[in-house]
Amino acid sequence: RYDVLVVGAGHGGAQAAIALRQNKFAGSIALLGDEPDPPYERPPLSKDYLAGEKTFTRLLIRPPAFWDERDVTLLPGRRVVAVDPVHRTVTTADGETIGYGEMVWATGGTPRRLSCAGADLAGIYTLRTRADADQMQGRLAGVETAVVVGGGYIGLETAAALTKLGKKVIVLEAQPRVLARVAGEALSRFFEVEHRGHGVEIRLETQVNAILGTGAVTGVQLVGGMIIPCQMVVIGIGIIPAVEPLLAAGADGGNGVEVDDRCRTSLPGIYAIGDCARHANRYAEGQRIRLESVQNAHDQAAVAARAIAGQTVSYDAVPWFWSQQYDLKLQTIGLSLGHDQAVIRGDPASRSFSVVYLKRGRIVSLDCVNAARDYIHGRSLVADGIIIDPERLADSTTSLKELAE
Ligand code: FAD
Repeated sequence: RYDVLVVGAGHGGAQAAIALRQNKFAGSIALLGDEPDPPYERPPLSKDYLAGEKTFTRLLIRPPAFWDERDVTLLPGRRVVAVDPVHRTVTTADGETIGYGEMVWATGGTPRRLSCAGADLAGIYTLRTRADADQMQGRLAGVETAVVVGGGYIGLETAAALTKLGKKVIVLEAQPRVLARVAGEALSRFFEVEHRGHGVEIRLETQVNAILGTGAVTGVQLVGGMIIPCQMVVIGIGIIPAVEPLLAAGADGGNGVEVDDRCRTSLPGIYAIGDCARHANRYAEGQRIRLESVQNAHDQAAVAARAIAGQTVSYDAVPWFWSQQYDLKLQTIGLSLGHDQAVIRGDPASRSFSVVYLKRGRIVSLDCVNAARDYIHGRSLVADGIIIDPERLADSTTSLKELAE
């Protein structure tokens, strides 16, 4: 039995264990996860790790000795399949039973797959774990053309990394623009132009009918009949939160597990954080959402750790996110969800600009492309919901800091 059992040894889980010790929590802590490796950073998997520019050692969230030093027991290679909230135990796929005093559920999600014909052929990948990235890399030698299904961040980053590796890439997106779920139209169009400029073919409003091949992928057939020959398919169409054992144990949830402002689930002594935790977010006007970002995993870990350590804090961190494609660094602050106006600062053609999103006149979010200064100054504008005249906002010769004064 552990005083705190953290299930899921990714960004949120690792940070929960770290934060517990930072908060002087003296009880026993175990960090259990189904992957074989110690906690590592996921974002590079679709960026410099996939492109072969970063080794796995550099992805580790802490050096292996750290966990020993902090007296955190790592339990890798174990998958929790059942939770007994009455006796406070979990059962793993291997039949091991582990007791807990309090539990932090930080399991992220499982990538969605296609359900069409051919979806199980060799050469089809999703990208969530180191193993996924390694398997993809292992097959790349025989790949001339790769089809990426989904024009979200992971799909586009993967397209950029594969292009760097000399592959021909075709991105298929069901919506009329890439990044439709997460960004405004100006940003979508900018990234479409960039990718096309790097030789990536982007097909919008396009859906997969079937994946073709015998044994391994040889092509993708689109709805409408067209066939794109390829040797690899990467699916980047979102995740399904990994919460079945918790829901089966009676926790409230559906699309993720519901948590309150202290990251508590409806089950006693069980917290949930990160990609799988559906919470009321101040920056979404209190709507209940799941956020899939390192920021959210880290900040919710800090809240849960403090709650366990006996302090009362509520989660209300400003959301932030980043993406790297080619030499473009995108930094996002706030949530553009439901904005009613978007103002562009700077010229997208200069490859350094920002999009400021407003809702009823208030600044709710910024997407900053190679524009770190706007990102830094934008944080407090979003946190305070500042109102600035859109015409003045569009003047990129005046800094956001000055505009806010
Ligand atoms: P994870 O980090 O996914 O950790 C969950 C862990 O739990 C995993 O190891 C999983 O295998 C394990 N697990 C699941 N179920 C069980 C079970 N039943 N028993 C035991 N273990 C289990 N975010 C950004 O902010 N910026 C980026 O640029 C960015 N890029 C990304 C690129 C890629 C390729 C991916 C996949 C994600 C990216 N993200 C990015 C998102 C970010 O990585 C996630 O939001 C973050 O990892 C969430 O942390 P988490 O702890 O909720 O889940």
